[in-house]
Amino acid sequence: MIQKILIANRGEIALRIVRACRELGIKTLAVYSEADVQSLHVQLADEAICIGGPKSSDSYLRADRIISAAEIADVDAIHPGYGFLSENAKFAEQCESCNIKFIGPKSKSIKMMGDKSVAKDTVRKAGVPTVPGSDGPVENETEAVKIARKVGYPVIIKAVAGGGGRGMRIAHNDISFAKEYHVARNEAEKAFGNGAVYIEKYIEKPRHIEFQILADSHGKILHLGERDCSVQRRHQKLIEESPSPFLTPDLRKKMGKSAIRAASAAEYENAGTIEFLVDAKGNYYFIEMNTRIQVEHPVTEEVTGIDLIKQQIRVANGEKLGFDQGDIKFEKHAIECRINAEDPARNFAPSPGTIGLYYAPGGHGVRVDSHVYSGYVIPPHYDSMIGKLIAFGSNRKTALERMYRALSEYLIRGIKTTIPLHKAIMSDPVFIEGKATTAYMEEFMSRTPPDLFS
Ligand code: ADP
Repeated sequence: MIQKILIANRGEIALRIVRACRELGIKTLAVYSEADVQSLHVQLADEAICIGGPKSSDSYLRADRIISAAEIADVDAIHPGYGFLSENAKFAEQCESCNIKFIGPKSKSIKMMGDKSVAKDTVRKAGVPTVPGSDGPVENETEAVKIARKVGYPVIIKAVAGGGGRGMRIAHNDISFAKEYHVARNEAEKAFGNGAVYIEKYIEKPRHIEFQILADSHGKILHLGERDCSVQRRHQKLIEESPSPFLTPDLRKKMGKSAIRAASAAEYENAGTIEFLVDAKGNYYFIEMNTRIQVEHPVTEEVTGIDLIKQQIRVANGEKLGFDQGDIKFEKHAIECRINAEDPARNFAPSPGTIGLYYAPGGHGVRVDSHVYSGYVIPPHYDSMIGKLIAFGSNRKTALERMYRALSEYLIRGIKTTIPLHKAIMSDPVFIEGKATTAYMEEFMSRTPPDLFS
């Protein structure tokens, strides 16, 4: 039985895990960097251990120090959250070999899905549609150009080890391909220590629609519906909602089945996400699987009423999922806006610093997941997300109206945030009509005067 969990993360997700553990009666240990002493998760956890300096490479990425902390504090399990070590198969293996439960899938599944080209190959063999492209990584530039021509321009060059939208370049012809190929390889080498890239057909103006998977260690794999994450900037999600305004019941059913097939091909256990691109005609293609909890998981929680973090812990505890596919009801519409400490009017320049006044919205159908408060100092060392605002209701219109209302109440003084940008999007007819594709943000920014979101 899991009685104490080490949270190998920071920020809002660490706080989210502390909260789930509290409700389950499980003790928590926060590990933190010197820059995070003031963070809410450190203050609310039962115990806290400082594991190093502000840089992630000196703290949140130090598997050795995290495992030592786990041993000192005698925890039963480690929850990795998202980012940092959450998709590091070696770390999962280290936990397993130290007899500490890693709250996530088996290291074997992480490895299989962590290499994007192996992942594509695995799910394709299981009968799930994938984007046409190279069979695995490309060996050299000559071979790469040949494949790009065969696939047909435009193509996208992607890092095998990719994540967070990095190491991805688009090429429209042989000339731009030669340049982008090298840029992608260098970027991938720098970001992931692995320069291997593969090639895919670039799907024009698709939607990004992903399915939430939940699987136990007894062979049951279910999906908890989809999230439409088409509103992205530089391949990074900004807004997510469920259900997708684009999917028909038929397509939802087909994609849900494909998602489960993909997860079983990975012999998956715990929570995970199958990501697809969907073109205007409703053709869908697997792009990758994330073998961890996602930032946008609250959207699914509010639609289904299922607490995903608690389910992750129960699955790690060896329990069976207490429901079947048919028991999952999709009764609400939910939407999430990522609140980033960035200035949208100045090309999203990071805006770290001290938060003056902080007042979070509330009321019917509103949820805020955030670790910040009045007087909190945002460290410059980590990503810029300082919170997530989720609004939900019985239909899309209500959820959107509520989101606008909640954004208008949200006060964060002293720094710039993405709140005014989200308000402008919530009032934009293209978004309101549910027509946003992954090309939406660029188009929206080009036609909207910056003073509207400064
Ligand atoms: P990462 O792991 O870096 O997040 P993904 O493979 O999940 O990368 O892709 C992120 C985003 O990049 C997608 O949501 C989509 O907007 C864009 N993208 C990826 N592959 C393609 C493709 N083949 N065609 C068009 N857009 C793509």
